[in-house]
Amino acid sequence: MKRTWISRAAALALCLMLLLAGCAAPAESTDDPTPAPTESAETPAEEGGLPAGTYTGSANGFHGPIEVEVTLDDSSIVSVEVTSHTETENVGTVAIERLPEEIVSTQSLALDAVAGCTFTSEGLLEAVKNALESAGVDVNLFMTAPEEEAPQGEVEKTADVVVVGGGGAGLAAALSAAENGASVIVLEKTGMLGGTTILGGAYYATGNQEISAKAEMNDKMREDVANILALEPENDDMARWQDTVREQYDAYLASGETYMFDSEEYHMLQIYADGGFLGDTALIERLCSISRECYDWLAGYGLPWSDEVIGGKASDTTAVVLDAQRARRNKSNGEESHSAMLIHVMQKGLEDSGVEHEILLETAGTELIVENGAVTGVIATGSDGTTYRVHANKGVILATGGFSANAEMCQEYNTLYPAIPATAKTTNSSAATGDGIKMAEGAGAALIDMELIQLWPHLNPFTGSTDTYICAKNNLMVNPEGVRFVNESGSETEVTCGMFEQTDGLAYLISDANNTTLDAEGKNSAGLSIDDMIADGTVVKADTLEDLAAQLNMDPEVLKSTVDAFNAACDSGEDAEFGRTDLTAAMKITTAPFYATATSGGLHHTMGGVHIDTNARALDENGEVIPGLYAAGEVAGGFHGNNRVSGNAILEAIGEGKIAGADAASR
Ligand SMILES: Cc1cc2nc3c(=O)[nH]c(=O)nc-3n(C[C@H](O)[C@H](O)[C@H](O)COP(=O)(O)OP(=O)(O)OC[C@H]3O[C@@H](n4cnc5c(N)ncnc54)[C@H](O)[C@@H]3O)c2cc1C
Repeated sequence: MKRTWISRAAALALCLMLLLAGCAAPAESTDDPTPAPTESAETPAEEGGLPAGTYTGSANGFHGPIEVEVTLDDSSIVSVEVTSHTETENVGTVAIERLPEEIVSTQSLALDAVAGCTFTSEGLLEAVKNALESAGVDVNLFMTAPEEEAPQGEVEKTADVVVVGGGGAGLAAALSAAENGASVIVLEKTGMLGGTTILGGAYYATGNQEISAKAEMNDKMREDVANILALEPENDDMARWQDTVREQYDAYLASGETYMFDSEEYHMLQIYADGGFLGDTALIERLCSISRECYDWLAGYGLPWSDEVIGGKASDTTAVVLDAQRARRNKSNGEESHSAMLIHVMQKGLEDSGVEHEILLETAGTELIVENGAVTGVIATGSDGTTYRVHANKGVILATGGFSANAEMCQEYNTLYPAIPATAKTTNSSAATGDGIKMAEGAGAALIDMELIQLWPHLNPFTGSTDTYICAKNNLMVNPEGVRFVNESGSETEVTCGMFEQTDGLAYLISDANNTTLDAEGKNSAGLSIDDMIADGTVVKADTLEDLAAQLNMDPEVLKSTVDAFNAACDSGEDAEFGRTDLTAAMKITTAPFYATATSGGLHHTMGGVHIDTNARALDENGEVIPGLYAAGEVAGGFHGNNRVSGNAILEAIGEGKIAGADAASR
């Protein structure tokens, strides 16, 4: 059967046709196809010169169209202004701030993408090209790459502590080392700090009773405590935690309080049980024991924690799916995302530390320097090709994140799932390619839990964005042939594996006029416009199911019969095909317009990584500490077991980073 995929390239081509047909006309020109500048054209184009004036262009970035105004004089690009975009703050916006100036200063559109925001960089350059084309300018005039600065050869640098990776764990490590008097160099591969941490929800888990008391206890939570205490202990640590929780819970019940019961030991039990009893109990105990300390530590640097507490529920494959409301984050300052605040508080703490420090952006660590069995530094490459030999007097802390952006590496280690497609996208930063794991391995470190990979069921198949949805994720879902293939309300793993098996790993969520999540302005919950998503091919809209099928290259009869069967199941509440028990009449697909949102499964978290001890020191195959080498955050393995529960990854990043920084500084 013919593929039913509207490719991004095709969508871009369509968009380009639209742009050339008018969207990219000069700013105040409507019908007149002749390019007319918004500001009065000072100089008519001389032969071989440029048509002076201001022109608009548009192209898709990561989240939708990037619109630009390009001002030309008769010989050059005078300015580039981004007039509208919906790119991710602190990630895509880095390219938006940087590239316009670079285009003007180099008079070139043959520029490298800013590392870490390729989609935005390419979209912006394309938008400028469109503006030039609308002015009748031959874009090739600007396609000569600027002369690159020659690499500086080999640069030597030295600090007490060298941190590889400037995300949550890396900044926590750098701040902690600085706080303990160590000079610090942070090497960051991309053009910005934050990594996956800045893309995330910033929820942080701590099983501290004082904080958890801000939530109320309910029957499910009471049942959860009973269930977890009734589990057969797997080992002495678990038995000890259960004994402690039993005592704590008895005291709590005797007190007659109604707030949510919690404790560090209960948090430990939860992580261990929800991770399939595979986590390292010593590591779990260490991190849970310092979760309140880290919470206060961040508050001390100005992170304004909110009283709001939310569920830190596990996704699936858990022994007890807890209802504990123990994940929390900072109050919003209204200007930045919660996660950006988390990153910036640590960055500012480092800057204000008064300790010698340096952050090298667009500088990727590639190899560890090992001398007499100890790690003494890092070799790194700058964006201009310069090689850095960065010596560490006291220690090197790997904080490079996980490997969810490296589908090949996930395939290599996967033993849990039938298959992971090479094309699988990730929810993570594109820099999460497992570099630190490979560097550590090269220095003799042991790896642990590498096969434990967490999947995510709904990503934009073009970009990996999790924001381009216009209906509930458990709406009717069909494959490219128009056939339903999974219980849409099943576990994340079940749904994702089902999606992986479909043609091109692709599926469509079907919605109608009655069950989208669009607001009155046609925007989804992330503020993205349905029109933009239709224009870039993420969403298809039609007045009839037949037309929807036709646009998706599906057999209309097949789609129609899938929808009929689904609607019947919604009416009866019985899903003979996939056993869904949550179907209701409100979920039926009956009323035009009909929508199909392209979706695919992806890679979300890698629980495995460098084997560390409770001081975040890397271990070799014999369990011996490798002097001078630490790993913190998602690059390290052992904490979560087979299931990373919401809120615990930020605890891991901050906790291990803080431990590693202090330990390295003390060497
Ligand atoms: C959408 C989403 C939402 C999430 N929400 C939550 C949540 O609310 N709570 C929670 O607990 N967890 C959450 N997580 C998981 C959590 O965000 C991550 O596990 C955690 O942020 C990882 O932190 P890290 O510092 O280890 O890695 P990162 O934050 O990814 O930092 C790693 C850094 O290293 C850099 N780097 C990589 N390779 C190199 C190299 N060779 N040289 C130099 N630098 C390099 C990267 O560019 C990056 O800046 C979420 C994840 C996603 C994807």
